[in-house]
Amino acid sequence: MPRYSTEPIVVSVASGILPEGERSRRVALTSFPPLSKRVSVPLREVVCYECGQRTQVPSAALSAICSHCRAHLKMTDVEIKSGSQRLTVRTLGDVTVHADAVLSQLSVTCRNCYLNGRGSGVYRCSGLLKVSCNNRIEGSLQAARMEVDRGVELVITQGIMADELIVSGRVSSRVVSRKSVVLRRGAELIGACFAPELIIEQGAVHRGEWHQVRPD
Ligand SMILES: [Zn+2]
Repeated sequence: MPRYSTEPIVVSVASGILPEGERSRRVALTSFPPLSKRVSVPLREVVCYECGQRTQVPSAALSAICSHCRAHLKMTDVEIKSGSQRLTVRTLGDVTVHADAVLSQLSVTCRNCYLNGRGSGVYRCSGLLKVSCNNRIEGSLQAARMEVDRGVELVITQGIMADELIVSGRVSSRVVSRKSVVLRRGAELIGACFAPELIIEQGAVHRGEWHQVRPD
């Protein structure tokens, strides 16, 4: 226990009233700081995966409560390995599907997702979805940004929805984009594409119709 001892003070005036400066200093020491200065934890804005509304959470926390719907939100990163029993993953953190995984009927809701192994199912990512392994996905993919690596063959039965899609491999899917679809050199996209902008680099191919839609 720290010892508490009062500080003697000598006041130059006979009234005993503290001088203005000293009085303010002592008031400040014993008062709560104003509300605006009290928050010192860094916050992160997230979209609640239960109600879909934006809410602020401490960025270093492992879980948080949505300020709108009071849902308990997980914020930890999740690794999905071969033989993993967890087929439904909901987190505000990142998800990695390991290279040795062969899984189906996954339901993944997360920030960034790294698909290094085979994982068929439904993906909803508020950030990046990166596919680095051949996959046949019976389901759909949704992400702010999606990247398909060079040499990867990807088949998606129920389509891709991505603000931005960057393909360096070979993708068979219907694509709906809010910003742009970029087919890098040597890439191939098979399927209808709805996007404000479709960029086909030299040597890349799009087989299917392009419907130019207005950006949001
Ligand atoms: Zn919520």
